[in-house]
Amino acid sequence: MSVFVYQQGKLMAEQVTLASIAEQFSTPCYVYSRQAIEQSYLGYRQALNSRGANQHLICYSVKANSNLAVLSVLAKLGSGFDIVSGGELERVIRAGGDPAKVVFSGVAKNAAEISSALEAGVHCFNVESETELLRINRIAAERNQIASVSLRVNPDVDAQTHPYISTGLKENKFGIDIDEALSVYRHANRLNAIKIVGIDCHIGSQLVSAKPFADALQRVLALVDTLAEEGIELGHIDVGGGLGICYQDEQPPSAADYVASLLDTLGERNQSLIMEPGRSIVANAGVLLTTVDTIKSNEQKNFAIVDAAMNDLLRPALYQAWMNILPVNESADCPAQHYDVVGPVCETGDFLGKERLLAIAENDVLAVCSAGAYGFVMASNYNSRGRPAEVMVDGEQLHLVRERETIEDLMRGEINL
Ligand SMILES: *Cc1c(COP(=O)(O)O)cnc(C)c1O
Repeated sequence: MSVFVYQQGKLMAEQVTLASIAEQFSTPCYVYSRQAIEQSYLGYRQALNSRGANQHLICYSVKANSNLAVLSVLAKLGSGFDIVSGGELERVIRAGGDPAKVVFSGVAKNAAEISSALEAGVHCFNVESETELLRINRIAAERNQIASVSLRVNPDVDAQTHPYISTGLKENKFGIDIDEALSVYRHANRLNAIKIVGIDCHIGSQLVSAKPFADALQRVLALVDTLAEEGIELGHIDVGGGLGICYQDEQPPSAADYVASLLDTLGERNQSLIMEPGRSIVANAGVLLTTVDTIKSNEQKNFAIVDAAMNDLLRPALYQAWMNILPVNESADCPAQHYDVVGPVCETGDFLGKERLLAIAENDVLAVCSAGAYGFVMASNYNSRGRPAEVMVDGEQLHLVRERETIEDLMRGEINL
């Protein structure tokens, strides 16, 4: 159920036309719908209702969209957070999130990040290697604290997604090989400043079937049982994130069906279930607005050169991702033609969409859909372009939640010789 729908030929964000947002805040500009974010979060929560309040925790994955306004909307609903850096921890705290509901993931947490997470009192560290385990133990001991940890195991399951966002195979850098995890748990159990609280896995992103999740959980549960036989009882099982969304014609399970399948696999177990959804909370809650600057054609191609580029939205260039592109005002005036929608950056890989049938003219505003996740957070200043503004819609209200970067912002901290 999208909140970005046409009404009388105008594409809306809740009660506001996207055209008016483009006019007010200029383009390129990310637009997020508060209602859509809340709906998808609450979809997870309803699906988990059958488990008691302390039997589940939804930890929104901050890296999908880390704008403070997005985090605070979720914090107000009681969401926990999955973070991958000290910077993300600071964002969660500033957005009013509860550190006790934070799980700290990430491939190699440094000493400063570990210290600040201990200081803040995060729920646990999802540990990715024995080196990291020892580092956390040492830092916690120095601080006279006990660090709660869960091991991120790599279950060697094929997520059947794009290779760049597969994380649960032996060939991937993530987690501890599930066959070695038992010995790392035994080691953790002997460390004085470590308390084992759970187990974690995250096999990839944009998964469109529940099957790989269930396979991974099955493998994790086998280890949970072995640990229990050794007297290592876990408080929680963290299944990670990764549920896909529909960009084009994918048919991922709903959050409800996905959760139901997990609960089914979990059976009667009494551990708390932690989930780390990112994309499925925010992707379809956002669009990127961009204006057609120039239309240019040759014998082979029509190009719509727009004012957003790969530095603003990297997914098409990085993953060959297909994202829908819609005019914010439906027009009957110009004929529909196939366009490559490209940005002004000096790279052939700089495109937002290829061979798109669009009825557009210069100065029209387009919306790149499903841009709420892995959009702004991956933006860069390549070609010395300021990153776009971000706007949150709430009913009829508009909030500028990040100013467009200025030339001054671009050069902050640089020094002339
Ligand atoms: C990226 C990530 C997530 C979120 O993945 P989505 O596909 O956005 O749901 C969750 N957990 C970890 C450890 C991650 O790295």
